[in-house]
Amino acid sequence: SLLERDRLLKNAPHYVAPLPTTVPIFDLFSGMANGAVRFLGLSRRPGRRGALVIKTGLAMYDFFTAARRVVPTHKFRSRAETLKVWPAINPAIRNSATYYDAWVSHPERLGTEMLRDTMKEKPSARALNYARVSLGDASLVLYDRLSGETVAVKPRLVVNATGGWIDLTNSAIGAVAPKLMGGTKGSHLIVDNRELHDALDGHMIYYENEDGRICILFPYLGKVLVGSTDIRVDDPDQARCEDDERQYIRQSLSFVFPEIEIADTDIVFQFTGVRPLPISQDSFTGRIPRDHFCELIEGAG
Ligand SMILES: Cc1cc2nc3c(=O)[nH]c(=O)nc-3n(C[C@H](O)[C@H](O)[C@H](O)COP(=O)(O)OP(=O)(O)OC[C@H]3O[C@@H](n4cnc5c(N)ncnc54)[C@H](O)[C@@H]3O)c2cc1C
Repeated sequence: SLLERDRLLKNAPHYVAPLPTTVPIFDLFSGMANGAVRFLGLSRRPGRRGALVIKTGLAMYDFFTAARRVVPTHKFRSRAETLKVWPAINPAIRNSATYYDAWVSHPERLGTEMLRDTMKEKPSARALNYARVSLGDASLVLYDRLSGETVAVKPRLVVNATGGWIDLTNSAIGAVAPKLMGGTKGSHLIVDNRELHDALDGHMIYYENEDGRICILFPYLGKVLVGSTDIRVDDPDQARCEDDERQYIRQSLSFVFPEIEIADTDIVFQFTGVRPLPISQDSFTGRIPRDHFCELIEGAG
């Protein structure tokens, strides 16, 4: 994913920009014993990561990306330096570490541009949105949900890249496949609060909530995007941002910026997405691997 990110930074600078990402750190040694316990399979629960673990991780990150560096290396700050830049951050902080990731400001437009480029390169290609695929009598059928039109297609190969819907799509097209997916929903809030926005100083804050879950907040088009939850869902179509998730996100926010009050009316938008994760029995959703995988399924005919 780093290669992919670097390609996007290079090819689409109008939508993709470096994102300074700051990790608040509250301990020195935390995470070392927990790492060993997890390595031995004695626990799956994540624990807080302290300064030593984070420093080592970021030094490795810089080392492995040195040959094709496109973003600056990390910076470690003392408590005093951190509070100078982010005076509103939880004063229990011990250090902070800033590294660079990247963010996409308009992912939908980027997606549209990629489709247009593909169609320019290969004029016989077709991109159909608002289209749903299903199994017809002797072919697959594409159904245009806007016009109601249907088109029969007989593909040699189907790439099922429908994310959290992969199992549902396999079943809709008659592919005989085991259950592959076990998606989790992640909800985010968009908060319109100037004090919170300015408190970030243009950085994404990437922090561990008190329960060990990773949360983020970052400036987003003049507002602040805060998230997220990580909850298993059976049916991606039913996923919604629920009240208890709003509460969870607000609580996590009050942990990292305890003095900043967020009113209900500051929450101007909320949304949820389903992470297309592999099926897993892991008791802690944060531990389900985020790697990509490709499964080949032979057709019946
Ligand atoms: C809350 C959250 C936070 C995330 N944060 C990050 C992050 O910070 N960084 C990062 O790199 N990744 C992040 N991800 C992961 C990233 O969003 C996903 O990995 C990525 O979107 C997967 O892309 P995809 O194209 O495989 O699937 P999706 O983006 O899920 O696309 C699948 C598409 O298939 C369509 N579809 C479903 N059924 C059918 C059908 N029958 N016919 C036609 N179309 C159908 C759906 O409508 C959907 O548009 C996050 C995900 C979530 C949910």
